[in-house]
Amino acid sequence: MEVLYGSTRSSAEPVKASEAILKGLSDDGGLFVPDHIPALDKSLSELAGMGYREVAYEVMKLFLTDFTEDELKNCIEKAYDSKFDTEAVAPLTEADGAYYLELFHGSTIAFKDMALSILPHLLITSARKNKVENEIVILTATSGDTGKAALAGFADVKGTRILVFYPKNGVSPIQEKQMVTQKGANTRVVGIHGNFDDAQTGVKQLFSDKELTAEMNAKGFQFSSANSINIGRLVPQIVYYVYAYTRLLAEGRIADGESMNVVVPTGNFGNILAAFYAKNMGLPIHKLICASNENKVLYDFFATGEYDRNREFVLTSSPSMDILISSNLERLIYRIGGCDPTKNAKLMEALSNGGKYRINDDMKGQLQDFYGNYATEEETAGTIRRLYETCGYVIDTHTAVAASVYEKYRKETEDQTKTVIASTASPFKFTRSVMNAIDAESDSKDDFELVDELSRIANVAVPKAIEEIRHAEVLHDIVCEKDEMKDAVKAFLGL
Ligand SMILES: *Cc1c(COP(=O)(O)O)cnc(C)c1O
Repeated sequence: MEVLYGSTRSSAEPVKASEAILKGLSDDGGLFVPDHIPALDKSLSELAGMGYREVAYEVMKLFLTDFTEDELKNCIEKAYDSKFDTEAVAPLTEADGAYYLELFHGSTIAFKDMALSILPHLLITSARKNKVENEIVILTATSGDTGKAALAGFADVKGTRILVFYPKNGVSPIQEKQMVTQKGANTRVVGIHGNFDDAQTGVKQLFSDKELTAEMNAKGFQFSSANSINIGRLVPQIVYYVYAYTRLLAEGRIADGESMNVVVPTGNFGNILAAFYAKNMGLPIHKLICASNENKVLYDFFATGEYDRNREFVLTSSPSMDILISSNLERLIYRIGGCDPTKNAKLMEALSNGGKYRINDDMKGQLQDFYGNYATEEETAGTIRRLYETCGYVIDTHTAVAASVYEKYRKETEDQTKTVIASTASPFKFTRSVMNAIDAESDSKDDFELVDELSRIANVAVPKAIEEIRHAEVLHDIVCEKDEMKDAVKAFLGL
């Protein structure tokens, strides 16, 4: 059955998947949402006999219904190939009574690779299907990981250009070095004086700037988004939850139909929303455990029903979760509000004007699948140290936020359900914070000395993505104010 994509903010005519991927955001500023969530049409035991690429096809075909089998399989083959350093693509590691789903085996060693390896192919295919002749300009705001993963995905892809904005002082040194050394004539990286929310708000404004759109169109350009609001990002993320379950099943760690919990370190709410969609497709998920760092706006939301971004923005050791506006939450709000765009648009307007909104009791009642909690900086570091000391397993700061929250959940509920923790980055990407957590003495060393130290103590080879930037040349050094982002776009496109 065909899935069409409508807006969360108006009842505008729904579009096909390929059109939604091309546009990124609906014209009214809303997010594209599927008109229904399709059910898995293969049994869990059938899926358990498949590899990652096959599972990816079985899940994605149900959402991207206007792609032909050849088109979709071709995108999948190109994305999940030897860029991943393991045949499993997303392997599970058992440690301390939970299963860590390692989503960091792609080219930039963070989970954004899971979707951004395939998005360029979905986008180019969508452009061809819709007879788009303009060059596609990817405009992205990043809290650190999206930027590099998008740059790596789009570099030198014909018919595309990519411009990434990042908060100049809000990403880790390794994240920054990964971005500013990016090769590819069609790439540009710009730091802004501001935080991630400033960058994201600026990008959203540029997308809805009619004057700029017209000027670009006249010169043969059009925008598209690689941000996690694009359904071309969301759909590939559903795959690994299905895959994780079927691995547990294949390995005899879970019985067919038995439920699992998932714990997701959350920022923009994309990853956990994908898990929610997986549950709604029929995957046996009990609780969706939403883990926040000290920017705990989501924890407060689950506790009180009020989303309130009016608070101090905290820079933490898990920068990819330093977010006060979780864009993808809008898709959940829309759904629990009865898929009523008028009602949802009112809430989002309140968020945009006063920085907050409150959902009613009926909506709140529909959040029972979710459990929210947060971890302090101290708890996060303590979890990294404890897991290393007891199991020899080293996790990154984001994953440690999730592990800390899972610990709280387990204490509070005594729930024994098998649990998968989304491990969203390699510890090598946040080496300094990770090494500081394990050994306070390490702070005097430089970043690459710490990389070698981490490799030694964790007994894991330094990933290729890190070796590559050790001696790489800085190719991007532009920094601008947050109100100069439009000029940066124009300069890049020669407008
Ligand atoms: C982006 C990111 C997150 C947050 O994911 P969302 O989909 O934005 O909630 C968590 N951890 C890491 C390492 C990330 O890069």
